[in-house]
This record gives sequence, C-alpha cells and structure tokens, in this order.
Amino acid sequence: MKFQPIDQFATTLAPEKRQSVYGGTKATHEKRTKLLAAQFAEPDHLRRLAGEIKQHAIENLDTLLPLAEERLKAGGAQVHWAVDAEAARRQVLAILQRRGATRLVKAKTMVSEEIELAPFLESHGIECLETDLGEFIIQIDHDHPSHIVRPIIHKNRREIAVSFEKNGLGAYNDEPEVITRRAREFMRKKYLAADVGMTGANFVVAESGRLVVVTNEGNSRFSLAATKCHIALVGIEKIVPRDRDLALFLNLLARSATAQQLTVYTEFIQGPKAAGQPDGPEEMHVIFVDNGRTEVLASECREILRCIRCGACMNVCPVYRQVSGHAYRSVYPGPVGAVLSPLLAGEHFLDKADLPKASSLCGACNEVCPVNIPISDLLLRLRDKGKREGAPSPGLPPMGPWALLASQPLVWKAALFCGRMLDHVPGALIPVPAFHAWTGCRTLPKWRGGEFRKWLRVRKK
Ligand code: SF4
Repeated sequence: MKFQPIDQFATTLAPEKRQSVYGGTKATHEKRTKLLAAQFAEPDHLRRLAGEIKQHAIENLDTLLPLAEERLKAGGAQVHWAVDAEAARRQVLAILQRRGATRLVKAKTMVSEEIELAPFLESHGIECLETDLGEFIIQIDHDHPSHIVRPIIHKNRREIAVSFEKNGLGAYNDEPEVITRRAREFMRKKYLAADVGMTGANFVVAESGRLVVVTNEGNSRFSLAATKCHIALVGIEKIVPRDRDLALFLNLLARSATAQQLTVYTEFIQGPKAAGQPDGPEEMHVIFVDNGRTEVLASECREILRCIRCGACMNVCPVYRQVSGHAYRSVYPGPVGAVLSPLLAGEHFLDKADLPKASSLCGACNEVCPVNIPISDLLLRLRDKGKREGAPSPGLPPMGPWALLASQPLVWKAALFCGRMLDHVPGALIPVPAFHAWTGCRTLPKWRGGEFRKWLRVRKK
C-alpha cells in the first residue's frame, strides 16, 4: 500500500467513510459490552484466564506445534512448514499444480491476505475467489479490507450496489437482501466448479489436531464440501493446548468480535474425508506459516501473539474510529496492527515505525481485549525501539512557549482569559490553519480552563 502517515491519511478521508467506520465500530462495541456484562459475572476474570492460556501456548510452541503435527498426520492430513511468505505461496502453488487445479475458493483467511496469495496465484493462471461476502466485495472492487472482522466497514450499501452493477451482478439495487441473494447465486456456481477449498483456522488444538474455523456465512463449509482438496493456511500462533480450552475461546471470540453468543457456524475439522463419508475433501494440507512470528516471539512484544483476531480493540479505539483501517497500510489495522505490523515487517520495521505513535494510549484496547494483551505497553515499547533505531520523528511539540506559560503566573492567567474568549469567537476567524483542520470535523468544546485553580482555592479554605 502507498505510504502516507496516519494523520495525513485521516485528513483525506471522506466524511461519509469516517461516519461508516465510526458508526459501525461504536455500535458493535456497545453491544459487546452489554452482552458480556449481562452474561458473565466476571468477564475480566475470563479475559485474564484466556490470556494466560494463550501466553502458555505461545511460550510452548516448541512442544505444542510438533504435537499438533503428529495428531494432524494421524488424522490423515499432510503438514507443511513455511518460514516466510514466499515459501507459503510456493507450497500452495505446488499443491495446486500437482493436482492440475485452476480454481480455488477461499473462506476468510487472514494469512492468505498477509502473504498476498491471490495476486500470486492469479499470475500463475489460477482463479482465486473470496467467498466471505465482505472479502468478495473487496475483491471485485480491487480494494483492501479495513477491519479484520468486518472488511467492508468503510463502505455503505449504496457503494456496494454500484460495485455489483459495475461487475455485472445485476442492475443497481441497494437492498441488503438483493445484494446477498445475488452474491449467493454467483458463488454457488463457483463452489461447484472449484478444484480446491482454502481456509484459515481460528484455533488449532495441539492435543487432538483439530482445526476450528468459525464463520457467520457458512462459506467455509461450502468451500470444503464441494471440493476434493482442502488447504488450511495457519499462523503458528493459532495453537491452543487442549480441546476444553475452546469453550473459553469460542465464547470470548464471538462476543468480542460481533457481540454474538456464538458464531453461527463453528467447524471442527480433523482430517480429510474418511472412508464411507459421502462428502468432503479427500486430501487435506495444513501449512503452518511463520513469516516473522518467531522473531516476534523472541521480542519484548511477544504478548501480541496471543491475539485471536476479534477486532474488539479497533472497535473501541478513538484513533481507528477516525482514520479507518486503510490508514494502517497493512492487513492488520487498529491497535493490534500498530503492534503486529511493524514487528512482522522485520528488517523493514522502520517503514511501519509510525504506527505505534498513532495512539492516545488511553488503554481502552487493553480493557476490551479478550486475551488481555497489554497493548498500550507494547505500543510504548515499540516507540522506544523506533527511537533507538532512528525512526523519523515529527519533532518535539513546542515546549518552550509552554514552559513560559506554565512558569509565569501572570502569563498563565492571561492565557486562561484569552482561552475563555474562544467561546465567543467563531472558529473561522482564528488565524491558525492547523486549528481549522481540527475544527473542520469537530465541535470545539466549551472552554473549561481555570477550573482547577478555582477548585484548589475552595479546597484550601
Ligand atoms: S489484540 Fe485483542 S482485542 Fe485486538 S484483535 Fe487481538 S484479541 Fe482482539
């Protein structure tokens, strides 16, 4: 994606897009908060427990991954290891070419986005269709996802209707039922014609070799039921130790991601079709992808590998709500992306070193994270790393004038008086261009300067 610092990107964002992102994230966050409080006596206790289990899992990948491999092989799956994006793409291509496959249907897999699989396969003559409705709309629009759970959060239904019309999916109609029916009719033919189905995995259980995939549209089921070969692209951090851990994670994931009690379809996959089963792939490949995760594990920000990709941190983040996911120039936006993307960039860390600075450090992301990741601490550690490695800095704020104000009581009082005048001067008349950029999309709050001094006087008496 083209480089543009987050603050500059934000100034170019159309108000309609900002509104779509703000409204969509706020509504989901509010529903999630109510649901968790209504259904669990101590949701924070569950978040801490889930965080401890995932932390244990990522610190024991050296034993849990070989165990998962052994169990998967025992179930009939073939297991591959990809050290980086290039290796993962080549392994997928080799499987497809060996089978003579030319059509792939893909249920949402973030790793395939991360390794830019679709353009690679298309350059080798393989059709690669996204089957999640949001991802499908992104694909036909040649756009990028802007949220990890709701990839088209930045679009409204009118824009989607225009895309459908432009791509030959019927005359303009922005009724959601019509849009989904047309997508379904289009995709069903594609499922039946596809050679290979690809999914990711929300979790891989080490003790049983079970892959768990959750969707709300049932598209991963269709992708697997209609094809003869299943390829699962899985980040190595997706491991959980035991089947019984799933009870906790599935409950937290659905509530945190979409404020549902449980995602509509939860699939447990434990190998290819067994003898006597009528449907399902006869061949199954699991590709465990590292692509920088081992370096993250060795870093001082390893906690970020606990992430279960629920999107709750972006729904609550005041920066994400204003700038949208595209501002983060990565498949992982929002607070999680501000930590993960620079780390996964490896030797190109400095290209993404501005992302950890795009936070007010309010801590709201920490409070909603279902695996209790201390995101704001990690952002601070990355800011420090960026400074040590020479990341470009916009410079210090002008502290000289501030020091003068704060150290001279008379000047301070005069500044407070002038501040109060702001309540009576129309913003447009203030001769500071940067100020107009700020007020262009916000209402200036009433001046409250001096309240602390009043309070202190009363308190002294
Ligand atoms: S960091 Fe936490 S809140 Fe954000 S996507 Fe990951 S699990 Fe969800």
